Amino acid sequence: MSAPFNFSAGPAMLPAEVMQQAQEEFLNWNHLGISVMEISHRDPVFVRMAEQAEQDLRELMAIPDNYRVLFMHGGGRGQFSAVPQNIAGPADTVDYLNSGIWSEFAIREAEKYVNHVNVVASTLVTEQGKAIAAQENWQLSPHAAYFHYCPNETVDGIALHQVPDVAVPIVADMSSNILSEPLDVSKFGVIYAGAQKNIGPSGLAIAIIRDDLLGHAQRNTSTIMDYTVQAKEGSMYNTPNTFAWYLAGLVFQWLKRQGGVEAIGQLNRAKAAKLYEFIDQSSFYHNPVHPDYRSIMNVPFLLADDSLNDIFLQQAEAAGLLGLKGHRFVGGMRASIYNAMPMAGIDALLEFMCEFERKV
Ligand SMILES: *Cc1c(COP(=O)(O)O)cnc(C)c1O
Repeated sequence: MSAPFNFSAGPAMLPAEVMQQAQEEFLNWNHLGISVMEISHRDPVFVRMAEQAEQDLRELMAIPDNYRVLFMHGGGRGQFSAVPQNIAGPADTVDYLNSGIWSEFAIREAEKYVNHVNVVASTLVTEQGKAIAAQENWQLSPHAAYFHYCPNETVDGIALHQVPDVAVPIVADMSSNILSEPLDVSKFGVIYAGAQKNIGPSGLAIAIIRDDLLGHAQRNTSTIMDYTVQAKEGSMYNTPNTFAWYLAGLVFQWLKRQGGVEAIGQLNRAKAAKLYEFIDQSSFYHNPVHPDYRSIMNVPFLLADDSLNDIFLQQAEAAGLLGLKGHRFVGGMRASIYNAMPMAGIDALLEFMCEFERKV
């Protein structure tokens, strides 16, 4: 059988080229005769690599100079507590948009660290599917310390395609859409992302923080989660996840070779459009999200006959299409089509879906 296509939501597939390179230099990195995992994070050779990775990310995202880039521990969810602890006081109110399951988790975590988490709006069900209320209907608080949202809800497949227009610093959980298309970083106070969707191995989180938001951490913030300390220490207050950092660096270089976020964004939109178009013209498959709020990274779909789910997944796997099971909270199927998924993966999936519908 030819190599499978891996539609896992996360940890997700990584570019084949990157995996190949990592394999080739696994035992002998940089002609040192040892692995990148076996060297001090203070060694100048490692530090050079680490700085290059940050530089490449800065170039890819056009991150302005007044932002710090941190390589943090604890994945995406680690940032759910890091954000309120670092940029709000215990007596503050913070605003959260609830657009899906990850937003809900972020809200519950923030509630531990601030006086009041104000949910400005939640998802709605419209005739055309799940959607997010228009901004004029949000209940924003007058003095929030920040506004938090998740532009791409990985589980629900719901996306907000415009950056909200609010008066306070915007914090965005971009775990599943970072680097997927061009973005104006200067509109944000904090951008964070767990690495395992579009960047590298799990455990690592990238946090991009505007300078003026540093220096306000709550007194009892744990030191490894303190943005100000980590910014001062170059993300090496303690030993960082050196292997994940290295692999992230390889992915950034790969993305530059693909033409950066402009080019990958075009490809991502084309991949998603092809999939949605097929699903929409079918009466056998169904996507539950309003067309204006559909993710280009995570495409959930349901079968008209739910009892066929297991056999669909079994046959897909046998055909080399892996990781299509929907999240346990929502059921159905989900195709996660991050940067590393080539168009050939979409074509293979569509061919299978067509064939499955024809046969049953
Ligand atoms: C995957 C994901 C997370 C959780 O990341 P962990 O690294 O498992 O903590 C958080 N938010 C979003 C949007 C995600 O897709």
